[in-house]
Amino acid sequence: MAADILVYKADAVPVGEDQLPHLELTREIARRFNFLYGPVFPEPQAKLNEVVLLPGTDGRKMSKSYNNVIEMSASADEVRRAIENMVTDPARVRRTDPGHPEVCSVHAFHKVFSRTMLDDITRECVNAGIGCVECKRRLALAVNEFLEPIRERRKAVEREPGLVEDVLADGAKRARVLAEATLEEVRKAMRI
Ligand code: SF4
Repeated sequence: MAADILVYKADAVPVGEDQLPHLELTREIARRFNFLYGPVFPEPQAKLNEVVLLPGTDGRKMSKSYNNVIEMSASADEVRRAIENMVTDPARVRRTDPGHPEVCSVHAFHKVFSRTMLDDITRECVNAGIGCVECKRRLALAVNEFLEPIRERRKAVEREPGLVEDVLADGAKRARVLAEATLEEVRKAMRI
């Protein structure tokens, strides 16, 4: 990861909170190299999103190997099904039990996808004014609304055969030029 960042002299790296220690290691390598051989690498800064951590649908760390992700390519039905199966507040057994949004993965998703409704949802949850089924239904609507333009764009890309391959080839070509220039600088700095 450090090599992939440093070879392109990235100033900023979009990361989630759990990646921060890896980025700090990269920054340390840059500092150490610059100290020993002169200034070659910028110290890359973390570019954190407003939402630094989104749990998986089961409340654990989101990971494909846990099978607890909602894919960007998921259909509206797949999104609905994934959200229906999401883990909620375990202490909320009956519909009349007050909820604890701070431990609920559905609420964590609402923070991202339902910002305008968030205060209402939070209040209704803690007052038992809303059931988890309805809360999940609202979340599925919000997530699908968010994903719809992405699905449209995906369909448009699929209608243009070769487009993805061309974009990847072009990116690889430009990246190679940058990487070669950096390696040349490194060799010069290290006199090798
Ligand atoms: S009402 Fe919503 S936020 Fe509250 S526990 Fe149920 S799913 Fe979670």
